[in-house]
Amino acid sequence: MKPHANPQHSPELTVAEAPFTGTVVAIDGPSGSGKSSVSRAVARALDAAYLDTGAMYRALTWSCLRDGVDLANHEAVAEQARTVSVTMVMDPRRPSVRVDGIDLSRAIREDRVTSVVSVVATNLAVRAELRRRQRLLIAEGLEQRGTCVAEGRDITTVVAPDAAVRILLTASEAARLARRATQNLGQADEASVAATRSQVVDRDRLDSTVSQFTTASDGVVRLDTSDLSFDESVAAVLAVVSEVVGRAG
Ligand code: C5P
Repeated sequence: MKPHANPQHSPELTVAEAPFTGTVVAIDGPSGSGKSSVSRAVARALDAAYLDTGAMYRALTWSCLRDGVDLANHEAVAEQARTVSVTMVMDPRRPSVRVDGIDLSRAIREDRVTSVVSVVATNLAVRAELRRRQRLLIAEGLEQRGTCVAEGRDITTVVAPDAAVRILLTASEAARLARRATQNLGQADEASVAATRSQVVDRDRLDSTVSQFTTASDGVVRLDTSDLSFDESVAAVLAVVSEVVGRAG
């Protein structure tokens, strides 16, 4: 057999597939479930590393737009995923994402990125590459802090199904729309909710074609935050962590 004929045997993949040494807290959820802000607060409370995997898909999308990569060209986007330099700072007090050294923490939240990120994220070759990078980053976070909170759409199922703690954060569609409208437009009146709908509902519909984040898979704890405040949601996640691994912040 040729060396590395099977990608499973390439040295880098072996590192990405190595079992984690430390506590991984994997959190998935749809848009507006509060998963990013809750995960970050949980990471702060646990003094853990924090990995926002959505920021990686957004950074890759931003780089494709910058470089004029045709998003419909699957191979070109996959090549961009394999070659672009994305740096994740996993300090939960000051997390950031950089491409080629440029801090993109704000730019990746702009509408022009949000409106097309799912096109990039439904490219399966992109997902394979980002999964590989995400496992390496989680391992790095564990090395730095012993615990890593990683959040996204497929962390409990695909990226880190071997995580010690796996949580699906959900909320009713009405609650998620109201939260996102308040976050983006400062209010949750009828017009603001309508303006936010495509960002939440349409994006989730497309994202669900490649990831399972609407129902909890086997062994994943489902937490419905529709009627919980932010602090209550953080406390609920910490309670699950404490129950599973016997520690909380
Ligand atoms: O969480 P956030 O809204 O920042 O994620 C942006 C996009 O990145 C999602 O809409 C989805 O297309 C993609 N994503 C993904 N898998 C993840 C995290 C994010 O496909 N684990």
